[in-house]
Amino acid sequence: MLVVMRSDATIRDAQRVAAAIERRGLTAKVTPGQERSTVGVIGTGPLTELARAVNALPGVERVVPISRPYKLASREFCPPSTVIDLGNVRIGGPEFVVIAGPCAVESREQVLLTARRVAAAGATVLRGGAFKPRTSPYAFQGLGHKGLRLLEEGRRECGLPIVTEVMEPGQVAAVARTADILQIGARNMQNFPLLKEVGLAKQPVLLKRGLSATIEEWLMAAEYIMNEGNDEVMLCERGIRTFEPATRNTLDLSAIPLVKQLTHLPIIADPSHGTGHRNLVEPMALAAAAAGADGLIVEVHPDPDAALSDGAQSLSLDGFSHLMRSLKPILAAIGRPLAVCSAERALLASA
Ligand code: PEP
Ligand code: MN
Repeated sequence: MLVVMRSDATIRDAQRVAAAIERRGLTAKVTPGQERSTVGVIGTGPLTELARAVNALPGVERVVPISRPYKLASREFCPPSTVIDLGNVRIGGPEFVVIAGPCAVESREQVLLTARRVAAAGATVLRGGAFKPRTSPYAFQGLGHKGLRLLEEGRRECGLPIVTEVMEPGQVAAVARTADILQIGARNMQNFPLLKEVGLAKQPVLLKRGLSATIEEWLMAAEYIMNEGNDEVMLCERGIRTFEPATRNTLDLSAIPLVKQLTHLPIIADPSHGTGHRNLVEPMALAAAAAGADGLIVEVHPDPDAALSDGAQSLSLDGFSHLMRSLKPILAAIGRPLAVCSAERALLASA
């Protein structure tokens, strides 16, 4: 249930509504808005009686039932779009964000070269996996903590914030000391103890859609994180498993505008895992931007054929520069500027 306050209601009016909700053993969440504030109700309880009582309070315009099983994540609950502010980059606002880097951190040379080149081509966030969720136990599992240290060097090199995956609840504190954004991978989308743990972290979370997850299951996973107090969740459409073997996954483009309608959270498209093929990454990246994604996450490697993971879907450094050039007319057509990281701007200016 959501209580919409009148545009002339005071913050005290909203607090009075919150107190009425909390007296009934429910949780209230006040969201101040530019036009009007709202007070969300979380929990189960005597909602009919509560709606009647709240409707009679000063400053209340109307009480809206929330039809979705996810509450905090729903657009009904919080009509303005969430903008996640990393300090030097904003995600979910008018600017379009590009996250780029290797699937896995492999060596200092690989990370630093990729970091420099993706930043120079216009990326705003550096990606790289230190802990890798591999299908085969015999495949490269990532450099672990050493990989985190190399990512920190990459950040110093290019000035970009870092996103990296965390796979276990017990790893969250260590990964959060390095990461500016914590990634929850597709295979862990319903690892509920992990979702709760990143819900307690201070960093924003990039929540990938599970391999076979419905949109509702994905948004319920976001709800787990938000329910612990972390509202800074960005969703990532990375393709789902279908009957089609010609691509690694089927990038669900329709999920992008749908998720924008259902939630206020930013959505990032991953055309790398979404297709599995390097030659499909650029066309699907452009399509995702045109469909309303707030940004992209793209795998880039200095020598994709020699990559220790996901080489087939990784762009070369030049391939990434090509993608960034192709993106420009699409962003101009939809009226979205490309985000520029302020630290990166400073580094480029001093170069
Ligand atoms: C990755 O980003 O490298 C990754 C493992 O992604 P996903 O969880 O979407 O498969
Ligand atoms: Mn990968």
